[in-house]
Amino acid sequence: MALETELYDVLGVSSTATGDEIKKAYRKKARNLHPDKNPNDPDAIRNFQELGAAYEILNDPNTREVYDTYGMQGLAGPGGPQNGQDVSDIFAQFFGGVPGASFSFDFGGPGRPFGKRNKGEDSVIPYEVTLEDLYNGKTVKVNMEKEVECGVCKGSGAKGSAKARKCVACEGKGWKHVYSQVSTVRIATTRASCNDCHGTGEILREKDRCKKCKGEKVVQERSRQEVHIERGMTDGQRIVFAGAGDQEPGLPPGDVIFVLKAQRHESFERSGSDLLATVHVTLSEALLGFDRILINHLDGRGVRVASPRSKVLTSGMTIILRNEGMPTYKHPDVRGNLYIVLEVEMPNEDWINSVDHKALASLLPPKRTDIEPLPEIVDEVAFEEGTLAEVRARSFPADSGFFDQAFPSQYGEGDENDWEDDDVDEDDGGPPECQPQ
Ligand SMILES: [Zn+2]
Ligand SMILES: [Zn+2]
Repeated sequence: MALETELYDVLGVSSTATGDEIKKAYRKKARNLHPDKNPNDPDAIRNFQELGAAYEILNDPNTREVYDTYGMQGLAGPGGPQNGQDVSDIFAQFFGGVPGASFSFDFGGPGRPFGKRNKGEDSVIPYEVTLEDLYNGKTVKVNMEKEVECGVCKGSGAKGSAKARKCVACEGKGWKHVYSQVSTVRIATTRASCNDCHGTGEILREKDRCKKCKGEKVVQERSRQEVHIERGMTDGQRIVFAGAGDQEPGLPPGDVIFVLKAQRHESFERSGSDLLATVHVTLSEALLGFDRILINHLDGRGVRVASPRSKVLTSGMTIILRNEGMPTYKHPDVRGNLYIVLEVEMPNEDWINSVDHKALASLLPPKRTDIEPLPEIVDEVAFEEGTLAEVRARSFPADSGFFDQAFPSQYGEGDENDWEDDDVDEDDGGPPECQPQ
């Protein structure tokens, strides 16, 4: 029996109408009430919208049920009558008055609808691994604790032959509709677990509860599991222990899922099955070549490389070490490449002060001379070292207290009363002082 019939009245059907009758009534009314057909009626748009909204609520069995049980109040938001809102206000808000506004309902929301779960909750555990772990593979033992069905009460939660009773608050469903107003014309509907029975739909009296699990139906059980991190696994990869998760009475247990979180490596970057590393070479190596262990690999191996004769190396030059990248997951013998970016290290001042400059100059390529033709005016400017951070800091005159000082002038001569006008165009109020030139 419906509490209110207003929405039914809008559609012109009885509160016992079938879904088909509601659909038919809506189609017929929509044709008659369409604003294009009623150009002289100032309420045409509103009437049409009300019809649409009424139909949307009654056409969906979930919202219709809520409306039948709680009326518009039930659709207005959590808390219902306690929030002291007048039903007609809610009705007005709900239907808005905004031409072209649309109505929508989000059912279920993220995650599974309550009561439709077919196994226990999964446990997702982030697990930090190093790049070495992912390159070499690793087996770790972890202690796990999970919920299993209580053996004493066989998962009923009850003592002896005591029986749970149907939860009154949710009528045994274990969930209730929760409504939240997204905007004046939009109400989101989600299902929320019933607080009274914690989503079980049943309530067990204190004295009827199983002693071992205290009516929880499950008990904690510890176990030790081996987690195999396989060669070539990647950041974010999931290692699933099917059925190792929490068990809920009457359902198969959930899974335990380890999600790998790769830590940053100080020498290597990974891109799929390729690796990238930066190697510093000296000026001598850049000019005369090298033949040495360039890098210690992730498995501890030294990787020796010789550069070709007469090859001048520059900063940023990249070399490819084929098949020295990451192993491929499930095919660890197939490996990507290791890319090495060379960075030429210049010698320091101690070195330059210790050598004969003339002798060095005679060996090095010649210095650059002044550009030709010489400009008419040439100024001498002092050489001074600087840092970019200083330059950036100086480029903006505003310091942290800038806005406090400049506040009154930002919006002209006005006093506080100007702020009552919410339509102040912000473009007019920009402080000219803070425009970087
Ligand atoms: Zn028990
Ligand atoms: Zn309940």
